[in-house]
Amino acid sequence: MTQDKNKPFIVAIDGPAGGGKSSVCAQLCIQEGWGYINTGALYRAIAFLAGKKAIAFTDHGQLDDVVGDFVEKFQWDSKTSTLYYDGESISEHLQTEEAGAKASQVAKIETVRKALIPVQRHLIFSSLKPVVLADGRDIGTVIVPDADLKVFLTANLKTRAQRRYTQLEPQTLKTVSDHISSSAPADDQLNAIMHDMALRDEQDEKRGVAPLSMAPDAILVDTSDQSLEQVVDQVKALILDRYRLRK
Ligand code: C5P
Repeated sequence: MTQDKNKPFIVAIDGPAGGGKSSVCAQLCIQEGWGYINTGALYRAIAFLAGKKAIAFTDHGQLDDVVGDFVEKFQWDSKTSTLYYDGESISEHLQTEEAGAKASQVAKIETVRKALIPVQRHLIFSSLKPVVLADGRDIGTVIVPDADLKVFLTANLKTRAQRRYTQLEPQTLKTVSDHISSSAPADDQLNAIMHDMALRDEQDEKRGVAPLSMAPDAILVDTSDQSLEQVVDQVKALILDRYRLRK
């Protein structure tokens, strides 16, 4: 296969919520100066902006307008993993488990996904960095099926929920789940996160368009028994091994 050496080396990192994708990518960017596109943030932003305008996710016509407007006005800062809309950062509104659950609802809608395909490809292919990481659910299967390397990052549900629980600030815990109070015992809150994550996994895996699935040529990395540093080192080694082959 002939390689276009001006094209960035593209790494597709897919997997379920809480598998460690964004933490690993952010660390690799800091350590190696690579580019990073967090595609989940785009779906989160659409759900957030639709919510702000009180648009129901069932109103696909109005949702399409939200997507069109977003595509015109957003900017992604790869260095700081910050998403801007109309010149202002909206990243702080996108980080809760609730924002992820809402993103998963809009991500089922075919027109939304279709409109975001060229946006994601443009962000990835126009990067000036030698290596670009893109994380999501369908990067290796739909967005960049000929990515230079595909990694599928996962962990068991309990570990993923535990990580999400420790990541979240106590004051945002109440937004983790609609059915648990932030003053509930820690075990109950953890169970609520597990419950919501399992629902989101199921929604992402069973949707009709671009469901979450591991590409046949992806490398599976189970992060259940590994620290963030260990996973970062493992993924970095996979990338560098393959990248050296291309040079
Ligand atoms: O990765 P993150 O948790 O931020 O993604 C939020 C939601 O956006 C996912 O649960 C999924 O439904 C959707 N998503 C997607 N395809 C992507 C990235 C995210 O469907 N490439």
